[in-house]
Amino acid sequence: PETITIADLANRMSERAVDIIRMLMKQGQMHKITDVIDADTAQLIAEELGHAVRRVAESDVEEGLFDIPDADELLQPRAPVVTIMGHVDHGKTSLLDALRKTNVVSGEAGGITQHIGAYQVVSPLGGKITFIDTPGHAAFTAMRARGAKVTDLVVLVVAANDSVMPQTIEAINHAKAAKVPMIVAINKIDLPDARPEKVKTDLLQYEVQVESLGGDVLEIELSAKTGQNLDKLLELIQLQSELLDLKANPDRLAEGTVIEAKLDRGRGPVATVLIQRGTLHTGDIVVAGSEWGRVRALLSDKGTQLADAGPSTPVEVLGFNGTPEAGDRVAVVENEARAREITDYRSHQKREKQAARVGAGRGSLADMMT
Ligand code: GDP
Ligand code: MG
Repeated sequence: PETITIADLANRMSERAVDIIRMLMKQGQMHKITDVIDADTAQLIAEELGHAVRRVAESDVEEGLFDIPDADELLQPRAPVVTIMGHVDHGKTSLLDALRKTNVVSGEAGGITQHIGAYQVVSPLGGKITFIDTPGHAAFTAMRARGAKVTDLVVLVVAANDSVMPQTIEAINHAKAAKVPMIVAINKIDLPDARPEKVKTDLLQYEVQVESLGGDVLEIELSAKTGQNLDKLLELIQLQSELLDLKANPDRLAEGTVIEAKLDRGRGPVATVLIQRGTLHTGDIVVAGSEWGRVRALLSDKGTQLADAGPSTPVEVLGFNGTPEAGDRVAVVENEARAREITDYRSHQKREKQAARVGAGRGSLADMMT
């Protein structure tokens, strides 16, 4: 059944909760501000206080967010968004760090990149590439679980001295399930016991056939340590992404996904958002999951203040009233009232789900004790 807390109801009407409590008292009901009342009672109270009531259904709230595709003629090319996956210790972090350093020379102010969960580099062929830098599988799975498709391409790192391992297989399965093309990066070829050919044949068992074995999966042998062939990897990524013909409409209200979020002591809630279509501007009213805010500042991965951010750009967004969660979808809405409507609705849904879970938990005490 639909319910609302007295605090929420007061908030939405900009009335004082004590007045609502007093009205309920007159009807013989004793309540405190955190109590939940049913929708019919809430409606009676609201009407009595002179408010027009419109009950909101899910379709009303979520409508217009995310699902309307842009007309072809509005689409413009955008940078590919790449996730690096692979078995532990095969060199994911080393590769991400090495790639990040490939072009700090780009003359951009700030220079020193900061870890915001994603960054952009320019490939030797001139195209921009966005890397998601957040700890691999967990984030990828969390985002997929929420239906957020953020990655265009997976770089599968396999250490040439260790070959295919359990998390390599897991990564292959993730990429296949998400229908995201893969590029195989055979890493650590600087090691004396590197056996890149074994990696290639081992991969065949998992239906990954690299080009040099007659398949259509691009591969590159490289070393994150010495930097050998890192430029080639960037070139391959750009070539592969050109085949994917990635496009987005930059001229619309921004939409994207939260890559990382935290509560910063000085700056308040900070969310790294990957913009997926449209352009985000400072001053925009933005909703992420059950949080919203007015964009106070946008910061690039180099720590530079930006006035706006277009498709495939990762940005740190300041100005949220609460901390959203990684994987939350982000959308700009027309005004604060709309932002409140959506986030109130979603927080309510979230609380109901949690309550249901707690309820279910109680029933399974026996399970918990075994
Ligand atoms: P991750 O667990 O996949 O993120 O792997 P790391 O990037 O942390 O690398 C694991 C270990 O392998 C570290 O000691 C790295 O220094 C080392 N390593 C990574 N790439 C290379 C490489 O290309 N050559 C060599 N020799 N060592 C590497
Ligand atoms: Mg790592």
